[in-house]
Amino acid sequence: MLLTITTTRPPATDLGWLLHKHPDRTQSFDVTFGKVHVFYPEASDGRCTAALLLDVDPVGLARRDRAPELLAQYVNDRPYVASSFLSVAISQVFGSALGGSCKLKPDLAEEPLPLVARLAVVPCRRGAEAFLRRLFEPLGYAVTATRHPLDDHHPEWGESPYFTVELAARVRVAELLSHLYVLVPVLDDEKHYWVAHDEVEKLLRHGEGWLATHPEKEQITARYLKRQGKLVRSALAELVADDGTDPDDAAAANDLAEERLEARVSLHERRLNSVLAVLQESGAKRVLDLGCGEGKLLRLLAADPRFTEVVGLDVSVRSLEIAKQRLDRTRLFDGQRERIKLLHGALTYRDARLEGFDAAAVVEVIEHLDPPRLEAFAQALFGCARPGVVVLTTPNREYNVKFENLPAGKFRHADHRFEWTRGEFEAWASAVCSRYGYTAHLTPLGDTDPTVGGPSQMAVFRRH
Ligand code: SAH
Repeated sequence: MLLTITTTRPPATDLGWLLHKHPDRTQSFDVTFGKVHVFYPEASDGRCTAALLLDVDPVGLARRDRAPELLAQYVNDRPYVASSFLSVAISQVFGSALGGSCKLKPDLAEEPLPLVARLAVVPCRRGAEAFLRRLFEPLGYAVTATRHPLDDHHPEWGESPYFTVELAARVRVAELLSHLYVLVPVLDDEKHYWVAHDEVEKLLRHGEGWLATHPEKEQITARYLKRQGKLVRSALAELVADDGTDPDDAAAANDLAEERLEARVSLHERRLNSVLAVLQESGAKRVLDLGCGEGKLLRLLAADPRFTEVVGLDVSVRSLEIAKQRLDRTRLFDGQRERIKLLHGALTYRDARLEGFDAAAVVEVIEHLDPPRLEAFAQALFGCARPGVVVLTTPNREYNVKFENLPAGKFRHADHRFEWTRGEFEAWASAVCSRYGYTAHLTPLGDTDPTVGGPSQMAVFRRH
């Protein structure tokens, strides 16, 4: 998938300042779906073109857990077409430009420039060329769409659902990038990730200044948020408030803003950061991540050289494969990758490979064990492996009443075998301590509620 951006306003190479990417260099960046390369096929005073090339790894996508149906096939069009991956690439590689900042040439960032964006392949199903125009023309773009035949050698096979699209306008670089960020996934209508509340926030942030007045704002919002009614209504309420027309909706928008604030850093990220902080403060050098899953914590541990050996263990081979890919894509200094090992194993059996470590993390794992197996888990970890410190987290069931979408009595995840109240967790932790010679300190994780506590809970066990 290729996006090029061209300007003809001399000195055209100023585009390099605006994009924070030097026209003489080719640069590559690792992203979750593969690689992104930035280079300039032409860079003269009169005309400069920056190219953003997405190198999507379709096999990696197909192997991702909970891959949407489309991605579950090894052969799909995702590597070639403009899709939500382009938005991810824009925000990661042209993040400052998207935010409108250019420290060295601030005036330039404010200036509307003659720009042409060319998207090599745009999926345009169900005769959507007219929709393409309705999206971009109200924003002032001259739209040229060239449809490709299915096969150049077989015109009788008819047209393909793919276009090459050129968008020309006099706009600020940040505006062009925001328009592409929001509207390319809208056009494609196959977002690759699960749409959650933070997507509302992204839509509103990148749609600022233009989406509230766009004639297609309902369609754009509905498609961007994958038609999830509640999110779409919240976003539209806020857009209307943006317009300054409806005070009732403005109140709704305040509620939304509060929710957005809380969702900004996800609970899981906060949980992982709390666990990381405990491990860092403990002085541990050799650490275990038991039930490491896809390796989110491993990545954080890998980035901190004070951990000299990090071992992740999981029962799921598939999760370990994903963790390995993630680690291989994480940029680490020479020799650092060797500190991290992945083991296949079960937590409910004694495993000599886990003995002699300073600390172990067990993040959101025990609730996946059958209650009768908890005894064997405690024996294997606290009885045999016996790390100096164990940081263990599990959901707090009392908090479930606060999740609107969770029917009463249900667990948060289909594979959870139980979820404990704070009291149940404490009782289990204190039994473990007296049997195996540890002391435990329990804390809530996430924003706590005075009645039901935090959404998650953490116990830090220290060996006597
Ligand atoms: N700790 C990770 C993953 C949590 S999901 C994170 O916080 O992101 C729970 C993980 O526990 C899954 O990857 C699952 O495969 C693993 N798991 C479940 N039962 C296990 C067992 N008996 N032995 C080892 N791992 C197990």
